[in-house]
Amino acid sequence: MAINHAGGSTVRVEQVDKQYDSKQGTVQALADINFEVSPGEFICLVGPSGCGKTTLFRILAGLEPPTSGEVILNGSTVTKPNTDMGIVFQEYHLFPWQTVRENVAFGLKKANVPKDERSQRVQQLIDLVGLEGFEDSYPKELSGGMKQRVALARALAIDPSLLLMDEPFGAVDAQTREMLQDELIDIWRETNKTVLFVTHDVEEAVKLADRVVVMGRNPGSIRGIVEIDLVRPRSRADPEFGEYYERVRDLIHT
Ligand code: ADP
Repeated sequence: MAINHAGGSTVRVEQVDKQYDSKQGTVQALADINFEVSPGEFICLVGPSGCGKTTLFRILAGLEPPTSGEVILNGSTVTKPNTDMGIVFQEYHLFPWQTVRENVAFGLKKANVPKDERSQRVQQLIDLVGLEGFEDSYPKELSGGMKQRVALARALAIDPSLLLMDEPFGAVDAQTREMLQDELIDIWRETNKTVLFVTHDVEEAVKLADRVVVMGRNPGSIRGIVEIDLVRPRSRADPEFGEYYERVRDLIHT
C-alpha cells in the first residue's frame, strides 16, 4: 500500500441541528449548520469556547448523531467512524503499552494488512512525520509534539481521504506548535487529503486554511466563511495576514 496521492473526500454538512436535554432544560448546541468541502481542501472550523466546535467535530466523525440534518461523506451519510476518515484528537489517544511502531500499525493490523506490507507502510509513515529513530520508543518517552506526530501517522495509516483534527496542537508549546503546523501543511500537500481542522485559535486558522468556517455561540451557528487567499508559507507579519485575522475575529463577535 503506497501513500495515496489520488485526492481527498467531498464532505457536505446539511442542515445540522443538535440539542442536548439537561436538567436545566434544552441546550441548542448547533443550529442550521450548512457547508460543503471540496476534495483536497483544508478547512478550519474556528470559534470561541461553547460555540459547538466539539459537538460538530463529533457529528462529522460519526461519534454522535445530529438531532436533525446529516453529514454526507463521499456520497454516504455518516453514522459512525469509518475507514474514509482518520481522526486526531488533542489528547493523542495513544496506547501507552505500545511502541511508536505498534501504535502506527494499529489500524493496518485491524484491517488485516499483511505483515510485510504493514512494516513497509509503517516505516514510510514514521519517516513522513519525522520520527525516524524513535520506532521502538514508548509514548511516555516522547514529548507532546512527538506524540502528536505519532497520532497523525496512525490516523494516516489506513490512507483515509479525510483527516479530521480536533485542536490537535492545543497541548504543545508555541514553538512546537508552529513546527507542527508547517509539517502538517507539507503532509497535506504531499498526500492531497481533505482536512477538517477544529481550533479556537484565529491565528492558527488563518495560517492553515484554504477557507475558515467561523462559528459563534448562543446558539452555535456559522457566522461566515472566509476564503484565505494568501500564498504559503504564510507569515503573521504580512499586513494581509493581519487583515484576514481581523475579519475572522470581527465575524466571531457579530
Ligand atoms: P466548544 O467545543 O466550541 O467549546 P461544545 O460543542 O463543547 O463547544 O459545546 C456547545 C454547547 O453544548 C455548550 O453550551 C455546551 O455546554 C453544550 N454541551 C456540549 N455537550 C453537552 C452534553 N453532553 N450535554 C449537555 N450539553 C452539552
